[in-house]
Amino acid sequence: MEDKKDMKEEGATLQRDKETYAISPHIPGGIILDPNVLRKIADVAEKYHAKALKLTSGQRIAIIGLQQQDLDNAWHDLDMPRGRGGMCMRGVRICPATHFCKRAQQDAVTLGLELDKRYHGLRLPAKFKLAVSGCMNSCTEPALRDLGIMGTPKGYTIYIGGTAGIKPKIADVLLQNVQPEDVPPIVEKIVNYYKENARNYERIGAMIKRIGFDKVKQDIVG
Ligand code: SF4
Repeated sequence: MEDKKDMKEEGATLQRDKETYAISPHIPGGIILDPNVLRKIADVAEKYHAKALKLTSGQRIAIIGLQQQDLDNAWHDLDMPRGRGGMCMRGVRICPATHFCKRAQQDAVTLGLELDKRYHGLRLPAKFKLAVSGCMNSCTEPALRDLGIMGTPKGYTIYIGGTAGIKPKIADVLLQNVQPEDVPPIVEKIVNYYKENARNYERIGAMIKRIGFDKVKQDIVG
């Protein structure tokens, strides 16, 4: 029997059983959902006999345990964009912020959705995780992301170079008290700088370590 592999172009990941696949539709701002989206995902899961639905750390809903021959039809029925993986900007993580959370100090939802629309799936030297939180409780863990944007009473704090995983690292603070309208242009500078200066497979934190934070900061914000 032929060995099965991930089918990245089809947006499908081979599972531990080496037989079935998981797919994850892209749900911008995946923590706030229209019930119809949940119904559609549930319908597809049932129709194609998925083994489970999984809420992922990237705020997606993965449909797990699909047969290879059902993948095209499942995507057709979903009629939703595919969540992007690999060497690219992942879906932007957000928290409910001023839309629903009583502790929020900034509107992380509007900002996060804007950034997701602009960058989700953008090819980059390595995977790139971006998170926005509405206050310093940091429910989306911005200090552990490649680029983190944390709401405060005075605006946003912008972190770069954080990561979890095998070698966890708290990000460096690039800027503080950034006003909401000034965040997108700074994100654009950070992403462009990373694209131009990182080596293949080099996360932004590793790039900062190689170049030096002070120089990176100087180059990005002067
Ligand atoms: S980070 Fe703050 S605003 Fe966002 S969900 Fe957590 S407590 Fe609420």
